[in-house]
Amino acid sequence: MTITDGHVLHVPMLIDGKDVDSTDLIEVVTPWNGQVSATVPRGDSPHVDAAVAAARTGFESGVWARATAQHRIEVIRRLAQLVGDHLEELVELETLGNGATVRQATGFHIGYVAPHMEYFADLAARFDYEIPGPRTTFPTLGQSSVRREPIGVVAVIAPFNFPLLLASWKIVPALLVGNSVVVKPDERTSLAILRFARLALDAGVPPGVLNVVTGTGPEAGAALAAHSDVGKIGFTGSVPVGRQIMRLAADTVKNVTLELGGKSPAIVLPDADLDLAADGLLYGGLLYSGQVCESMTRLFVHESIHDSFVARLVERASTIVVGQPDDWDTDLGPVISAESRDRILGYIAGAVAQGATVAFGGGVPEGSQFSRGFWVEPTILTGVTPEMAVAREEIFGPVLSVLSYRTVDEAVALANDSEYGLAASVWSRDNDAAIAVADRIRAGSVWINDAHQINAAAPFGGYRQSGVGRELGPQALEAFVETKAIHIDLSGRRDARPYDVLLSHAD
Ligand code: NAD
Repeated sequence: MTITDGHVLHVPMLIDGKDVDSTDLIEVVTPWNGQVSATVPRGDSPHVDAAVAAARTGFESGVWARATAQHRIEVIRRLAQLVGDHLEELVELETLGNGATVRQATGFHIGYVAPHMEYFADLAARFDYEIPGPRTTFPTLGQSSVRREPIGVVAVIAPFNFPLLLASWKIVPALLVGNSVVVKPDERTSLAILRFARLALDAGVPPGVLNVVTGTGPEAGAALAAHSDVGKIGFTGSVPVGRQIMRLAADTVKNVTLELGGKSPAIVLPDADLDLAADGLLYGGLLYSGQVCESMTRLFVHESIHDSFVARLVERASTIVVGQPDDWDTDLGPVISAESRDRILGYIAGAVAQGATVAFGGGVPEGSQFSRGFWVEPTILTGVTPEMAVAREEIFGPVLSVLSYRTVDEAVALANDSEYGLAASVWSRDNDAAIAVADRIRAGSVWINDAHQINAAAPFGGYRQSGVGRELGPQALEAFVETKAIHIDLSGRRDARPYDVLLSHAD
């Protein structure tokens, strides 16, 4: 630890390129020791108004929106370079709030940010701001072209789990096509986003074009989502809050992209490589203590391999080192809060009361290093049935539920029987058989013999209540533009136009 060095760090908001502070503060509690490591201002409606006004002015001045696309790309590439240069610092700031292990934050949470920014910059270099249409003879001789223009002010509301990465999936495409942005991070995990926004100023994003308001969801978040000068909301978070955002957006008919929760299934076919599937599904379900939206937490395992698969899963789970996240040797850290820990332990107890068996873990790890902070052991439940809460609800904790199936039809039906549809995985030595199953699964991403493969060139998002719209992928920039059709009459003749449907008596 170098940034706080045992002291409580304080970081102000960034509005119109300036530090903005408040005497009303939010404490950032570090999940592995339960201590306050930092404070940020508790921003409220007036701060949101100021940030949106700065963004609006920044947008209308044209300093960014009417700069050349090439200039914006160069600035974003500079920012990606700065993110790479400040990797260690950003990792430290992010993990102070979300408790991810330093190894995981370096290799994933923060490590993915710069490469994904480069992907977006490459897309922007090929982006067509004007698409000429063909000539048409109906209803008259003419031609239309489509312009793609920035929406204006984009609001970004980010969750606690991958704060900077998921915010960057919205901020960077929005900026590349000329929008201004106001970000409201999760109140527990604002630090890396605040640093990123200051690096953006250094890279050449003009003051006012990227603003960060820290604060709670019901205060700053709701004020931002409801603001009449915001044209688009990019939101990642839970389904209940996603519904609220959609309702708030409805009053001023805002465009929304919603990346929401999940309860992702994995189907292990009888011919699967069980060693690979066991490791892949521990990674798929327990990474960051299961606090990943697409975590594979419902494991449908064919009855013929159920027992040997569970034995392998338990054997491999026992190698996972739970410990202090700032130790490079630690595999798994804490969960985000005491409320989360208690909710997760409640799910485990509920499943056991309904007849499930704890095959591994199931409680709080023992040892003096776990006396402070918020801990749950990696947990494997067997004998889970489809109607149990652990098999239906998003636990957002390190809990894998194993269910046995007889036929592929049954497994597919169970996998699809969910209000969510974010992701899934299929495990088999036969790629064709696995793809045939993937084709039948109603989810936005299906991995074959893998999990959490976040490839920037593939769209990411959910079916059903897992969300609206997609991030990443070749269309990533399109979520942040308005399209305008420009129609030109080429006939040059009054009598070639259909005006006589109204004006037949005019001559
Ligand atoms: P959350 O919904 O509690 O909070 C997300 C953000 O919304 C935070 O910034 C919060 O302050 C804000 N917020 C809360 N109430 C608000 C309100 N009334 N108005 C406006 N903003 C409000 O989610 P979380 O606990 O931070 O994250 C976990 C959830 O996010 C899980 O459900 C997870 O599956 C989901 N998630 C989805 C994806 C995806 O890509 N689909 C990725 C990561 C996380």
